Amino acid sequence: AIMPTLLSGIANGARQGILFKNGAQLEQIGRVRAIAFDKTGTLTTGNPEVVQIMAASQSEQQLLQVAASLESLSEHPIGAAIVKFAQQQQIEWRSATNVQAHAGQGITGEINGQLAIVGKAAFVCSQVNSWANTLTASAQHFEETGKTVVWAAYAGKPLGMIAISDTVRPEAASTIRQLKQLGIGEIVMLTGDNERTARSIARELGIEQVYSELLPEHKVDVVRSLQRQYHTVAMVGDGINDAPALAQASVGIAMGTAGSDVALETADIVLMADRLERLVNAIRLGRRSQQVVK
Ligand code: ADP
Ligand code: MG
Repeated sequence: AIMPTLLSGIANGARQGILFKNGAQLEQIGRVRAIAFDKTGTLTTGNPEVVQIMAASQSEQQLLQVAASLESLSEHPIGAAIVKFAQQQQIEWRSATNVQAHAGQGITGEINGQLAIVGKAAFVCSQVNSWANTLTASAQHFEETGKTVVWAAYAGKPLGMIAISDTVRPEAASTIRQLKQLGIGEIVMLTGDNERTARSIARELGIEQVYSELLPEHKVDVVRSLQRQYHTVAMVGDGINDAPALAQASVGIAMGTAGSDVALETADIVLMADRLERLVNAIRLGRRSQQVVK
């Protein structure tokens, strides 16, 4: 039978906007010694905005047209940001055909029988015959200041780059600080985004360990290796990409609002209203429940 103290712990959690799916997880989170955070949508709001576009040899209009043609069929937040920006610029486009999302890489499709592609540099680069070298320094500068840069190409030629900015959640830095004060041994950031962008955001938040350019299965690998060292490891995430790592973690924690259905189903604990700082309360409740049970 569930101890009354566990029930009151769960009830306390509910009052504080922390949904525990079962009592065992309340105890488990009290034992957590390492925490892995997804970046996009978890440490950031996940509502990115376009901050700058730079065309290669063609016009900015053509860059945006091609990008919006693909991204209007995308479910990725980067796609939503690009479409919103193209609309604001009153760009008109027709949807591409044969559009395919490539998880963690970008998106491809056909426009007038030619290949169109939007995504990270390495992915786009592999599909073109030349590169827009004049834009590389600017792209690096954007990444070093925490922006995500995506590239577009059409018919074998690079069209240019789009810099996108995502806002760090206001309570993220103080949450990390409090977790360190609670004695959590290791706090890491996991992301599919590139290394420069990830490091810039991690620095802003006081996170020292960063794993970037990860595919979903790589997030699982990082959680598993943390478990070998720290035994009880929590993973906090929001995306479909995070679901395998949430399942692998000793405690999977999902963002209640930003979280995708799969993440919410897989997680053991849900942070209502996406309030990261409730993680600190959850650990405190978990530690208290252990003291009372023993
Ligand atoms: P995260 O783990 O940060 O949520 P993803 O794994 O979803 O990131 O994506 C990783 C990277 O792949 C993005 O930063 C972007 O460069 C590229 N990417 C993925 N999907 C798209 C898309 N629809 N349009 C452009 N770029 C994309
Ligand atoms: Mg995410």
